[in-house]
Amino acid sequence: MEKTFDLIVSHAKKTGFVFQGSEIYGGLSNTWDFGPYGVMLKDHIKRAWQKKFIQEDPNNVEIQAAILMNPRVWEASGHLAGFSDPLMDCKQCKTRHRADHLIVNFTNGEVNPEGWSNEQMEQFITEHHIPCPDCGAHDFTSIRKFNLMFKTFMGTLEDAKSTVYLRPETAQGMFVDFKNVQRAYRKKLPFGIGQIGKSFRNEITPGNFIFRTREFEQMEMEFFCQPGTDDDWFPYWRQFCMDWILSLGGNAENLRFRDHTPEELSFYSKGTTDIEYKFPWGWGELWGIADRTDYDLSQHMKFSGENLEYLDPVTNEKYVPYCVEPAVGVERLFFMFFTDAYDEETLASGDTRIVMHFHPVLAPVKAAILPLRKTYSDLAKEIRKDLSYDFECEYDESGSIGKRYRRQDEIGTPFCITVDEQTTVDGTVTIRYRDTMEQERLTVEEVRAKINQAIRF
Ligand code: ATP
Repeated sequence: MEKTFDLIVSHAKKTGFVFQGSEIYGGLSNTWDFGPYGVMLKDHIKRAWQKKFIQEDPNNVEIQAAILMNPRVWEASGHLAGFSDPLMDCKQCKTRHRADHLIVNFTNGEVNPEGWSNEQMEQFITEHHIPCPDCGAHDFTSIRKFNLMFKTFMGTLEDAKSTVYLRPETAQGMFVDFKNVQRAYRKKLPFGIGQIGKSFRNEITPGNFIFRTREFEQMEMEFFCQPGTDDDWFPYWRQFCMDWILSLGGNAENLRFRDHTPEELSFYSKGTTDIEYKFPWGWGELWGIADRTDYDLSQHMKFSGENLEYLDPVTNEKYVPYCVEPAVGVERLFFMFFTDAYDEETLASGDTRIVMHFHPVLAPVKAAILPLRKTYSDLAKEIRKDLSYDFECEYDESGSIGKRYRRQDEIGTPFCITVDEQTTVDGTVTIRYRDTMEQERLTVEEVRAKINQAIRF
């Protein structure tokens, strides 16, 4: 079975994981709302990140910085001057395109123009007579730089002085709060500051469902270390991210590392590796891991006038820490886990069942409580209430038991619990396992222990 883009998107919509944003008003392009199962999946992804990157790591802590930051932050970080994409208009049909995307798509990914100048891209597009993907004409304007930051105004006046930006990444929050966290928490290097939160980019060509949107959630960590030790920490975090994905059921065949070539590297970066995933349309960036050196802290020192140096208690030296950053988007992980989990199986009966093989840690609903007949509803509801103290449960009494199992398979519920006559006698229930469809009889307490064990992470 080929997991086509349409198949995955339609399953996400049909099962209520994702809805079109503002749908009853005809939508707002490339905005998506996450329905209840979608929120649960996102929450479980975020919780799993927090657990491994923060909670279990003795060095790392988490913050929540404001989305609106002093505009000087974006001057210091280089976003105001340089966070732009190369924009070209088709003069014939008036559509807008990213010059680098035109080249990548035209060459089926064989030519990667990251790091090229505008002139190089224009020349390539002209020489290869690359057509407009919408109308086929070859009649583009020259490249203009388009800044990706959303602007708005703070307060009652709408002028240059009151302009603020929606943050295009969460990372700057960690740099700006570096000193506060280090001092208040008496942190010694190396240590990381992580953050989960919304970022906004006015992407020229959003699309591919939730892969590229203008509003998205990031999970980023800035790991500060002594200069020189970044050479060890960079490969460490690169592998840590990959292992995290694999431990949550990511399919190794669909994942790879891609190191940036020296031409592609940002001027401040010593090394960058993307973890790429084979999305239904081809390989794409999932997670970026970069050695950002001391660039950001040094810039903020310059622009804010604050000394952000670290006094090393061992060597008594003062220096600006280096920083290794693993940065990932929650929605891209969502898309990846959703696609990997999707399966269509032919059963012995000849029927097909759609089943989402989510890792139990990620599955939105952990257990569905299903009374075999309505006479057991009260008892089943009590069991649901009791188990939902530990994990997410759903109660369903409508339709045949086979139909109810199918519904749970389609959203990836790893355990179905049926309540029947015997439950009223000895308190046991039947637990049915999603992947094998095998069943066994257990007490409610055994079920609770088993599920708690399966979702330990
Ligand atoms: P791309 O090359 O795909 O535009 P990027 O290199 O600009 O991504 P980063 O700035 O490294 O992305 O951001 C870190 C992570 O945030 C990315 O790896 C991705 O998972 C996520 N991300 C970035 N832009 C978007 C977006 N527009 N929509 C959804 N997720 C995004």
